[in-house]
Amino acid sequence: MTIQPATPPRIDLRSDTLTQPTPAMREAMANAVVGDDVFGEDPTVNELEAMAAAIMGKEAALFVTSGTQGNLVSLLSHCNRGDEVILGDQSHIYFYEQGGSAAVGGIHPRPVFTLPNGAIPLEVIEAAIRPDNVHFPITRLVCLENTHNRAGGTFLTPEYTDAVAELAHERGVKLHIDGARIFNAAVAQDVDVKELVRGADSVTFCLSKGLSAPVGSLVCGSQDFIRRARRARKVLGGGMRQAGILAAAGIVALNEMVERLADDHANARRLAQGIAHLPGVEVDLDSVQTNILIFELDHPRFTPSQFEAALRERGVGILAIGGKRMRAVTHYGIEAEDIEEAIGIFAELLDDGTKGR
Ligand SMILES: *Cc1c(COP(=O)(O)O)cnc(C)c1O
Repeated sequence: MTIQPATPPRIDLRSDTLTQPTPAMREAMANAVVGDDVFGEDPTVNELEAMAAAIMGKEAALFVTSGTQGNLVSLLSHCNRGDEVILGDQSHIYFYEQGGSAAVGGIHPRPVFTLPNGAIPLEVIEAAIRPDNVHFPITRLVCLENTHNRAGGTFLTPEYTDAVAELAHERGVKLHIDGARIFNAAVAQDVDVKELVRGADSVTFCLSKGLSAPVGSLVCGSQDFIRRARRARKVLGGGMRQAGILAAAGIVALNEMVERLADDHANARRLAQGIAHLPGVEVDLDSVQTNILIFELDHPRFTPSQFEAALRERGVGILAIGGKRMRAVTHYGIEAEDIEEAIGIFAELLDDGTKGR
């Protein structure tokens, strides 16, 4: 992702990581009771971790600096050096995390085919699990991603996730879920988030995306797993001291910011419908399931990066993400009227010069 010039666009749809903390978060942060979390003595961190574990239906949880750190900590805690992890070739862990598990942990990635909806076919996972043979690495872990970032925020169902868990466990393999936006998946399907992770041995989720907290993610799993994760976090430099200042915002995020994700989903859908008929825009409306809209632009006057720049000049931020693909993400702070205004600006730019053809 390119670093943009200083002033953010007025209607900023580049990412849900751009969300500002809510007034309730700022107040909770200012008043948080804190202690040294490396000593286990920050009551606000402890409260957030207990809350996250309960919400996910796991024994324990660990507050980490970011989703990337949460995934790396999880992989390091499941796998030994030389072990293999099966993961989607479009997954965030494989695509966007610097190959950290290989670089830091000596963990061997096995990227496999991913469907357009972000799922990995069961038979692909099954075929990738290694038999016991002196030539092969040991398959230790399978990773899924819910919602799937590069697939455009598509969700995985409880039934699919259960089936992957069952297959993995039958073969002695663990399941990790990169659930950076797992609450978007839960809200979109109207299911308890526990149902999306019940078969998983670990799950990470982000507070700092649609849930709008300024910083942080959680890793959830068994007591034993979280004990190892705590060690892994420390060696990565993630032992934060009075981190309750940050955890306080996370508690507000979990209490107050989950149900409203439905508004973001409605806004993304409305944006998709509003631009679908415009010249040069190709969008699969069925793929717009949560807060991410990915569409293709093939227009006589704009390449995707030129269109990104033209929108930006008019106060709208979206991203060209490679090839013809462009991405817009809805979030807290983006209102229905912002979406209508953005649709109007899209129309003015794209209609211009092609009208009447
Ligand atoms: C954003 C994201 C992450 C990583 O989160 P950071 O906090 O930016 O490190 C991991 N997985 C997915 C699917 C994401 O979208």
